[in-house]
This record gives sequence, C-alpha cells and structure tokens, in this order.
Amino acid sequence: MNPARRLLLANKSWAQERRSIDPEFFARLANGQQPEFLWISCSDSRVPETQLTVTDAGELFVHRNVANLVRADDRNVLCVLQYAIEALKVHHVIVCGHYGCGGVKAAMTGPPPGRLTEWLEPVADIYQRHRAELDLLPEDERWAKLVELNSVAQVNRLAETDVIQNAWARGQYPYLHAWVYSLPDGLIQPLLTLSPKGPQDLLGT
Ligand SMILES: [Zn+2]
Repeated sequence: MNPARRLLLANKSWAQERRSIDPEFFARLANGQQPEFLWISCSDSRVPETQLTVTDAGELFVHRNVANLVRADDRNVLCVLQYAIEALKVHHVIVCGHYGCGGVKAAMTGPPPGRLTEWLEPVADIYQRHRAELDLLPEDERWAKLVELNSVAQVNRLAETDVIQNAWARGQYPYLHAWVYSLPDGLIQPLLTLSPKGPQDLLGT
C-alpha cells in the first residue's frame, strides 16, 4: 500500500472511533481551543508530544524545529509565542529537548554545509562557551550535557523576549520549563522552571 494512503485510512478509522466514544468530540474542538501549554520541541520523529505526555487534541499548542531553538531572529517561533501567550493565554511554556538529538550533535561536531550550519549557530555557541567542562566528558556524555544546556538556554532566551517580559509584568503567568526527553526509556526529566518570581523548586511546580 502507498504509505501516504495508509495514513489516510488510519485517519478515517481514528475519526470514526473518536466519534463513537464521544459524539461531541469534534464539534467541541471546532468551537475553539484553550490549551494550557505551549510545547516547543525538536522536529525529530521520535518525540511525539501528545503521546509522551498523554495529552489530547486541544491541550498543547505546538512549535517544533531542529534542536528546539528559540531564536530572536525566527519570526515563526516568535509569532507562535505571541499568539500562545497573548491570545490563547497559556499558563506554561515547555521547551523539551531530547537526548540523542542529531541537531545538537551536528552543532558539536560540525553540521553538513548549508542552512543547518547557520540554524545551529546558537547551539555551537553554547558548546564553545562550555567547551572547557564539556571536552572533559566522554563523547556520549558531552552530547547529553549539551542537549541539557541547550534546553536551559532556550528557556532563558524565552524569558528575555518582550512577550514573556510583558506577560510577567501583567501577572503571574506563564511558567517556563526546560525539560529533556530520553529516547531509550521514554521518560522526561525536568531541568529548570522559571516564573515571574524567579526559578522555582521543580518538585513544587
Ligand atoms: Zn533533535
């Protein structure tokens, strides 16, 4: 069977099943969305955000790109952020990196020539800034540590945006979370949470 045809057939049976379980499901979603979360992660096919967080349609507003970057010159992510915060009023923004990220590795080892080189510059910069400590580690640990540093750096960058600064000046949301997802065991590890009051106890938020 044509692989794309397989997706269309799967979609049809999914829609039928959802309707049979909850006849109002699609009508409710068609009326609008009120997601509580903006999810920013890597484009990697192994990080399916709704599956690994057991969330349903309507719960996550999503932006994905190579290496889950929040770049000040990326109008795409900035528009998504502004809409999520100011129109949808999400309460939590999650940047979820993942171990085994090819984009992060490419920034460390030298990406193939082309657009990726430029795209991954912020990760290469993080690597250079932490090179003294990272180069002491075996390659796999160095890669994993850079994945973590990258997620934290993106959350810190989010906190500097005018959208987040304005939101924090208005009230208590959003909370910003840096997480990392582990491909080998499917588990998410929280690394950092920022709120208008500053860094939060991870277990308390
Ligand atoms: Zn990745």
